[in-house]
Amino acid sequence: MILMNHNAAVTGSVLRIERASIHDGKGLLTVLFLKGCPLRCRWCSTPESQSFGLEKGYAQDRCIGCGICVRLCPERALSISHDTQKVLTDLSKCKKCFVCAAKCPQRAIKQYGSLMSVKEAVGEISKDEIFFFYSGGGVTISGGEPLSQPEFVSEVLRECRALGIHTAIETSFHVPYENIEKTLPWLNVLYVDLKHMDKDLHKEWVGHENSLILDNIKKADQSEYPLEIIVRIPMIPGANDTDSNLSAVAEFCKSIKKLKEIELLPYHRLGTETYKHLEMEYLLKDLAPPSKELICERARFLTGLNPGVPVRIGSGLG
Ligand code: SF4
Ligand code: SF4
Repeated sequence: MILMNHNAAVTGSVLRIERASIHDGKGLLTVLFLKGCPLRCRWCSTPESQSFGLEKGYAQDRCIGCGICVRLCPERALSISHDTQKVLTDLSKCKKCFVCAAKCPQRAIKQYGSLMSVKEAVGEISKDEIFFFYSGGGVTISGGEPLSQPEFVSEVLRECRALGIHTAIETSFHVPYENIEKTLPWLNVLYVDLKHMDKDLHKEWVGHENSLILDNIKKADQSEYPLEIIVRIPMIPGANDTDSNLSAVAEFCKSIKKLKEIELLPYHRLGTETYKHLEMEYLLKDLAPPSKELICERARFLTGLNPGVPVRIGSGLG
């Protein structure tokens, strides 16, 4: 593989790479998840993607108290509690070398995130070129919020396009438009969330108003690039699944010329364990996911408001 770009040394904070995904598009997809997000959606299913920095998670239910991590930590940052048998980290000493994660025989300590150069990321993605070719798939860059790392993302996308790989991005669009502009020339498909159309409720559920996001969608739609826009609505019972919100979404979508379809992403609680491992509070842990019937009914309602635009039910929150 020959990288055409002079910026191959740019690095990104990468959470993980998933291969052979069949969600979120055609064919087999390789999804590059980046770390860091400016929003704090209460329903976030990937809390490990929120912080831009590398993080360490700990699953006490896996830990057997062998003490290997305590002995091998070069900073003497770890100890085992006599009371709870829990491995404790002195954060003032931990240098995030992740020796403990690498050596734990139970995989009770987990490293979330690593730094990766453009060259490394494209190298990983291009390993799947043969699958992209035969299945019609490609790469999707997701997060966190990938457009918070615009240099890294634009370089990865540019290199992938140079290799003939189909490109997509999953974004909240809560970023300066300059970040978005850097990536548009190299994008085939743009997946963007509309989490709530009411600016106050958007702020309440997500942490920021939606005006920047709506402006950015309009600007991207007016850009010269022939990308497809897919609007996604995370379906959160009681938060944004109301007639009034879906009607506002449908109205807004009528003005988007590049819109290809609308996707509903049912709420789920798959991130519950990760919240525990990171000792983070999961605000919606008691909220039940929507039933299939409800999601289908909401999809029909939305289709009725804007019959020209297909409505698809996706695989769930990312
Ligand atoms: S990440 Fe490194 S410094 Fe931190 S607790 Fe683990 S071994 Fe020690
Ligand atoms: S090495 Fe793993 S299993 Fe052993 S005490 Fe540390 S966290 Fe627990």
